[in-house]
Amino acid sequence: MIDLRSDTVTRPSEGMRRAMYEAEVGDDVFGEDPTVRRLQDRIAALLGKETALFVPSGVMSNQIALKVHTRPGDEVIVERQSHLFNYESGAPGLLSGVQMNVLDGERGTLTGAQVAAAVRPGYYWEARSRLVWLENTINKAGGTIYPLERIEEVARVARAHHLALHLDGARLWNASAATGISEQAYAAPFDTVSVCLSKGLGAPIGSVLAGPADLMQEAHRYRKLFGGGMRQVGILAAAGLYALDHHRPALAEDHARARRLAEGIATLPAFRIDLDTVETNIVMFDVVDGEAAPVLEALKAEGILMVPFGPATIRATTHRDVTHADIDRALAILTRLFGATS
Ligand SMILES: *Cc1c(COP(=O)(O)O)cnc(C)c1O
Repeated sequence: MIDLRSDTVTRPSEGMRRAMYEAEVGDDVFGEDPTVRRLQDRIAALLGKETALFVPSGVMSNQIALKVHTRPGDEVIVERQSHLFNYESGAPGLLSGVQMNVLDGERGTLTGAQVAAAVRPGYYWEARSRLVWLENTINKAGGTIYPLERIEEVARVARAHHLALHLDGARLWNASAATGISEQAYAAPFDTVSVCLSKGLGAPIGSVLAGPADLMQEAHRYRKLFGGGMRQVGILAAAGLYALDHHRPALAEDHARARRLAEGIATLPAFRIDLDTVETNIVMFDVVDGEAAPVLEALKAEGILMVPFGPATIRATTHRDVTHADIDRALAILTRLFGATS
């Protein structure tokens, strides 16, 4: 199988398993797991934030952030393609009682002017604008990078209106690997930042939320309240530390494989792809005359897995468990199945 469904399908590498086996542990609900503390300190420093908190998933990390920034009845400004709006099971309504002001941006990005226009003036019959929510890289837009100037433009507007700012940086590592701009520079305009260890970094589980100490104290409380208090999870934090040291430097190779796949797909008339959107490890393309489902079925029969991202849209994601040879094989099969011009 060449599994291109997501960068979450990776298996822990041998070195990672060894690091997990050897991890020093303690009860993290008592704050006594030294490996968890090391991971949290490491990521806080990487992101230039005061404190960080290890949590089981990216969704929990995002939802804790949402909870600490808002009160029920508040409004969150968010782009339509965001993970928060599309893939978090309606949690913002259930857990934080907030409503979302969903804006249509360009490839998942908002301009400062758009955000400024969406901020409510504060009449008592309106929801209270409280938080601006950005994502980097933007999954649904094709793993695209939020340009730093754009982020700073939005941040200036948010500050001017006294709004909080959160970054869903599940794949922030990929943005940094692609641009050379540090995670810290990308994180600087935000109050809180969430990063995932279980995507391209290849850890089996784990995300980290980082931010200022006062907010993170509240975050710690909500992690427990949401059922995310964990015990001897140095075993899992060790995987995260290993991933930062040994897997992170290889992310650019995922990007090269995605590029190669995208350029191959671009030569096939059955598909339409905007190569400009292929900036990191995600390849999003459309079926020109038909639907995604039969294409995905045909590929599956040949041992290639991708996922639908709309009726005629397909997503393929590269990761550390697909090789250059796998990509070549996938392209050969795509060409055999869909390369003939009718
Ligand atoms: C994967 C992802 C998350 C969190 O997902 P989990 O499966 O809960 O870890 C959040 N935001 C984005 C952009 C993601 O891609």
